Amino acid sequence: MGEACKRFSHIFRRPRGLYICPRDRGRIRAILRNWPAAAEVAVIVVTDGERILGLGDLGANGMGIPIGKLSLYTACAGVDPGRTLPVMLDVGTENAEFREDPLYVGLPQRRLRGAEYDALVDEFVTAVAEVFPAAVLQFEDFATENAITLLSRYRDRTCTFNDDIQGTAAVALAGLYASTRITGRPLHEQRLVFLGAGSAATGIADLVARAMVEEGLAPVAARARIALVDSKGLVTRDRTGLAAHKLPYALEAAPQHDLLTSVRALRPTTLVGVSAVPHTFTEPVLRAMAAENERPVVFALSNPTSRAECTAEEAYRWTDGRAIFASGSPFAPVTLDGRSWVPRQGNNAYIFPGLGLGVTLVQARRVTESMFAAAARRLAELATDADLAQGSLYPPLDRIMEVSAEVAVAVAEVAYGEGLAALPRPGDLPAFVRANRYDPRYPLYT
Ligand code: NAD
Repeated sequence: MGEACKRFSHIFRRPRGLYICPRDRGRIRAILRNWPAAAEVAVIVVTDGERILGLGDLGANGMGIPIGKLSLYTACAGVDPGRTLPVMLDVGTENAEFREDPLYVGLPQRRLRGAEYDALVDEFVTAVAEVFPAAVLQFEDFATENAITLLSRYRDRTCTFNDDIQGTAAVALAGLYASTRITGRPLHEQRLVFLGAGSAATGIADLVARAMVEEGLAPVAARARIALVDSKGLVTRDRTGLAAHKLPYALEAAPQHDLLTSVRALRPTTLVGVSAVPHTFTEPVLRAMAAENERPVVFALSNPTSRAECTAEEAYRWTDGRAIFASGSPFAPVTLDGRSWVPRQGNNAYIFPGLGLGVTLVQARRVTESMFAAAARRLAELATDADLAQGSLYPPLDRIMEVSAEVAVAVAEVAYGEGLAALPRPGDLPAFVRANRYDPRYPLYT
């Protein structure tokens, strides 16, 4: 996907989805109504292209992300492709190379910011709720500050979620739940250190803290088991000018200037990489994890593969084969000294397609944190003992249609439980979910 986005303008063959730009202000409703299958739209994925994967500002070339994510809705959960709508909010780009490229598909100007940006997004979100009242709106690959601000602005006003924050959190939490079946230590006894303190890190931290509270910890005690390390070192109370989303995890602790000293000082059971900086889980860091833990949990979640904090092989090699490993991008199975592992991707595709399917099938009015927590629990249960034995914290992707159906049912249950579903409850919810899927298999090969 990263490659496709970087070269999007050059490999462009035909338009897909809607591009909305600042000069469309005042007529976004009309533009949405022009979509040929407007009455059918169930799932919308929108980006403004500012933080595509770990690749930064790709401007309108980021349209590959909504298109790709929606293909996953179809391939992984059986959402009818005719009911999906990719949207690019093309507000310019800070990428000078793209702006000067005559083939660039987007607006060749610097990014719109501030009040004008907010007004454009606001008109778009309001128009979506009006034109597609039964659709779920997924925000994808916005820059951290916008991602966090827009989620808190709209989550209680309309049916929306941010996949980088909440989808990531659910898939990571599922991996952590699965890892506790190997370590035998419940979640609320884990200590987590994150490398990276952006939208993915704080999203995961919030959902993990919530899950620890569900297991009986007080919120303050839960947050104290989580530490963030960013480019300036450990996030501690004595640091000035900390962004608001980091504050809940600022520790009352001595400053540490890097990951290694933070790991030595805090002795975490779990290391989560969401920094988009490769080779940061170095041999000394992983050996320090292995010295403290019989089974250190190591998640190198940064995408694409070239940004992963460590490779699967490094994780196993530098922990003498004891790491419980998951990654954001795929790694091939590893064999070392006669032992083999099949690490699996903690990919959001395990969560958002099923979540979207569940939300839209019962026409939930909101997407709530409990839905992500339920999705995570269900996904973790679907990793079998055989999966865990070979080092896989997630079920295989060839079972994804079934996994997504299970996630959809778990999410729909929460929607009914929280009184958020507009459709009356069907007698047999699992059968209802399965019966209302599009079959993405090409008939010749089934
Ligand atoms: P972000 O820009 O919000 O956060 C990145 C964070 O890393 C920031 O806090 C930044 O200060 C920190 N950072 C930068 N350089 C650092 C350094 N040298 N040492 C320590 N910290 C450093 O981005 P994000 O949305 O949080 O995503 C981060 C990464 O996680 C991306 O690569 C993304 O692809 C990946 N991700 C993976 C999944 C998944 O696989 N499930 C989901 C979401 C995001």
